[in-house]
Amino acid sequence: MLTLRLFPPATLVFSFALALVPAAAMAGDDGIPVDREKYAGRQTEADFTASDCPDNPRSLQQVKDNLYRHTTGAGLAVHSGLVLITKEGALVIDPAMTCTSTWLRDEIRRRFNVPVKYVVLSHAHFDHAAGAQVFQQDGAIVVANQRALEPIIGENLPTALPDRVFDKQMTITLGGETVELHRIAPSHSDSMTMVLFPRHHALQCTDVCESKSMPYNDLLDFYYPGWIETLDWVLAQDVDIIDIGHYSPGTKQDIAAERAYMVDLHQQVLDLTRQGMSWDHLYRNVKFSPDIKNWIGYDTMKTLNILGMYRWVSNHRRGVW
Ligand SMILES: [Zn+2]
Repeated sequence: MLTLRLFPPATLVFSFALALVPAAAMAGDDGIPVDREKYAGRQTEADFTASDCPDNPRSLQQVKDNLYRHTTGAGLAVHSGLVLITKEGALVIDPAMTCTSTWLRDEIRRRFNVPVKYVVLSHAHFDHAAGAQVFQQDGAIVVANQRALEPIIGENLPTALPDRVFDKQMTITLGGETVELHRIAPSHSDSMTMVLFPRHHALQCTDVCESKSMPYNDLLDFYYPGWIETLDWVLAQDVDIIDIGHYSPGTKQDIAAERAYMVDLHQQVLDLTRQGMSWDHLYRNVKFSPDIKNWIGYDTMKTLNILGMYRWVSNHRRGVW
């Protein structure tokens, strides 16, 4: 019918118009919306990262193509996260401090002339999640694993409540790029998210992954089997840049070395505990290889790492009693 061909139905016009929109304008995600209204006016703790910090070292440096890495803090206190820049907007992982978030927001605007569209929280620990509210107030969508909601709300964390969450997997499309979020297992917290940039062969693996550095402190918020499962997942990915949220990025070789360290530490602590050794005796008898003695933080973290593993082992063994 001639009239129909000349004046196609609105739905046809609509789908034709959609097909003409370049891929770069098709930002979206398959996350689950959070009803943030339910928590409007929630009480939060004071934000110790909020006071002005003009002298705090910070940077935004290119990693590969349009993938960058932001850092904040000096020396061993440095926190980091990957930043994807597209013509449709930026995606930032873990702003890490409120006082440097405003700088990062302005720096992205100044250098690339785009807004931040997405902020991904690697997990619900405040030292990484702080500052997300700066971007959310600016219109960014904040994303985290659904298991991050309870600690953010329950601990009154002064950061953004996520706009979208996911259970096992979520995909974000931005400026023609695809970013994959994966929940593997409880590891370092139960809300940990691996953020994969397939085209860049890059991964954000905060706090679980190490780069010739010791796992932090007494392995706080620690789940041993899930930690190993997570490292095995990382080793199975086609990635050559792994940002660990601190220090400097690592490779799969670093992750393999870390896995060997964790398995060995677990076995040594288990064996010594089964021999009936008391803590006072036990921590003096764990051996470290010469390589590990050169890792970042060895002197300050070694006994605390043993303590973290000792707690895990003590909680998860049963004899005849
Ligand atoms: Zn953490």
